[in-house]
Order: sequence, then C-alpha cells, then structure tokens
Amino acid sequence: MQFIDLKRQYGDMKTRMDQAVLAVLEHGQYILGPEVRALESKLSDWSDNAHVAGVANGTDALVLALKALGIGPGDAVITTSFSFFASAESIALVGARPVFADIEPGSYNLCAQSLDDAVKSFRASHPAINLKAVIAVDLFGQPANYAAISKVANEHELRILADGAQSFGATQGGVPVGALGDIATTSFFPAKPLGCYGDGGAVFSKDEALINTVRSLRVHGKGSNKYDNVAIGTNSRLDTIQAAILLVKLDAFAEEIKQRNAVADRYAVALGERFHVPGVAADSASTWAQYCLRAKDSDREQHLGALKSAGVPSAVYYRVPLHLQPALADLGYRAGQFPVSEKMSQEIFSVPMHPYLDEELQQKVIDALLG
Ligand SMILES: *Cc1c(COP(=O)(O)O)cnc(C)c1O
Repeated sequence: MQFIDLKRQYGDMKTRMDQAVLAVLEHGQYILGPEVRALESKLSDWSDNAHVAGVANGTDALVLALKALGIGPGDAVITTSFSFFASAESIALVGARPVFADIEPGSYNLCAQSLDDAVKSFRASHPAINLKAVIAVDLFGQPANYAAISKVANEHELRILADGAQSFGATQGGVPVGALGDIATTSFFPAKPLGCYGDGGAVFSKDEALINTVRSLRVHGKGSNKYDNVAIGTNSRLDTIQAAILLVKLDAFAEEIKQRNAVADRYAVALGERFHVPGVAADSASTWAQYCLRAKDSDREQHLGALKSAGVPSAVYYRVPLHLQPALADLGYRAGQFPVSEKMSQEIFSVPMHPYLDEELQQKVIDALLG
C-alpha cells in the first residue's frame, strides 16, 4: 500500500503526460516557456482571478512573497508554532525574526486569540522590532480561519501571507485558496495535493503590483529590460516541464478533490468514535493534504505499530513544534509556551490519503486501527 499513490495517478494520465513533457523537449523553451504562462492563467481561474507567478518551490514562494511585502532585517513576522519548517524558515531567510502563536485543537490551524495575545506581548517586549505580517498556514489542506485572523491582523496593522502549500484547491466562505490573505503561496512538491514531478511553487495575489514584484524577483530583480536589475532578487522560476506536468494534472484535479473528500468521509464515519478525526469548518472545504488522527484512549506508538504490522504506511506531521526546533533555539522559546501545539505534536499521526485509495484498501487501514 502507498501513503500517496503517485504511480497510480501517472498510470491514469500516462498518454497525455508523456505527450505534454515531450512537447516541451521538442519546442525547446525550457525556461519560462509557454506552459508556464498557460499554467499561471489556469491557476488564476482556480483562485478567483488572482494574479499568479510560478516559482521554483513553495519555500521560495514564501521568501519572495515576504520580500514583495517589503519584509527584511529589523522586521518580525508571526506564524503558527505547528507547521512544516519552511513556514518559519522563510522569515529567517529574509533576515526577519520569526514569532510564534499557538493553534486551535480541532483544525490544527493558527488560533486568532493566541495570535492577538502573542502580537501584544511581542510588541511590548520588543519595541525596536517592527512586527509587520502574519503567515497563516492552511495545515493539512484546510484554510486557516481567515475571518478571525483578518480581524486581529487589521487591529494590529499586519499584512496576511497565506501559506497554502498544502491547500491549493480548498475554499473558505466560497473564496478559493490563492485569493485568501493579502498574498498567498503554494507548493507543487510531488506529495502536495497538486504536485509536479520535481519542485515547483506559485505566489498569488489580487494586488497586481505584488505579483509584478515577484515576477521581477524570480529573475534576479530584473527591470523592464532583462539586463536592467532593479532589486536583489534570485533565480527562482517554475520549470517549463513542471508547468506542462501540472497542466495535465490540473485537468483531473477537481475530480481528485472530490475523491479525497470521499476518502475523508469514509475515515470519519469508521474512526470517529475511537479517534479525534479532523474537523472542517462549516464554511470551508479541505483538499486533505493529510488525514490526521489522534487516539482518544491509547497512545500513538501503539497505533503506529499496528499499522506497520498490517503493512499500512503512516507518518507523523509534525513531531517537533516550530518554536522548539533546534535551528530556532536562539529565539529563546521554551516547552510549555504553546501547549496545544505541543500536545498535538505528541499525539498526531497520519494515515494513507490520496484520490486513488479505494474502499478495499481503505478498509485495511481502518481494520488495523480498530484492531
Ligand atoms: C511543503 C510546504 C512548504 C514548502 O514547500 P516546498 O515546495 O517543499 O519548498 C511550505 N509550507 C508548508 C506548510 C508546506 O507544507
């Protein structure tokens, strides 16, 4: 059994996929070729007509979005203490200081109340540092609570960067990921809901000026002329071949999201009594990047062992909350400061989740868990 069955997906798309990749080899526009533009236009359709720039990966997407917002040395950015490392790493990479807040237990996403408390206490204790923005992460495929987070962000004059690395295709209040927040990012790492066959990412915004800045930064801060450099940028373009692959995958994506939701519904019905199953807000839809469980009555290692014996792959996202990562020890955070993140990191584990998980295979997962 596969944790995420990418080979099965390729099998279903093989003819069109092979043709799309070969077409790029034939036309030879390997850097920012026509497929990149075509993909950006399709991604815009998916994100309520946001402006879109394809970039090299989801980490660069965060870095370039932060730079477009004007964040750098002397600034701070607040984010969740429970995410993939890149959510905080990107802040340090632009020379700013990461600040953390705790999460909600049901959605695993940034808690607006904790955000409010953390902003107030950071500003009181660090008056010389300019706390300018919040990175909200749509963890495991569900959008963060942008209505509540926007209220707090507006009160404290913070820009909102939505890290949608795991949530492209999801919605909140009818608004798609990409159009939530002042600027948003995603990742096309192969294991994400919309993944390519290597690294890729994108930045989205309704504000065209922000995306024009990202378009410049991804090509060494170029001006209107290629050899006219107006900013210190980097080399971070989405490969033409990866864009071609994503265009094929995007054709199947709406159907795949439906299938992911069917898998999630079956897990919730079968496991809801013995496990805390993920809660999705009434106004939101998830793309189920991961299906996470916490046992109500027994410990995680016991379940991981039972899954392993049954030949079912599993994973733990995330064993160490961000504020306790060794690389960020200089920030001075201690265990006990974000109790929800810390508790979740000790209890949470993920089971196979992908659009091609049929009922028979899924029953094997369920049987192993209910033992
Ligand atoms: C995967 C991920 C990233 C980074 O994306 P890459 O394409 O791997 O660089 C950033 N944030 C979150 C929440 C992620 O899950």
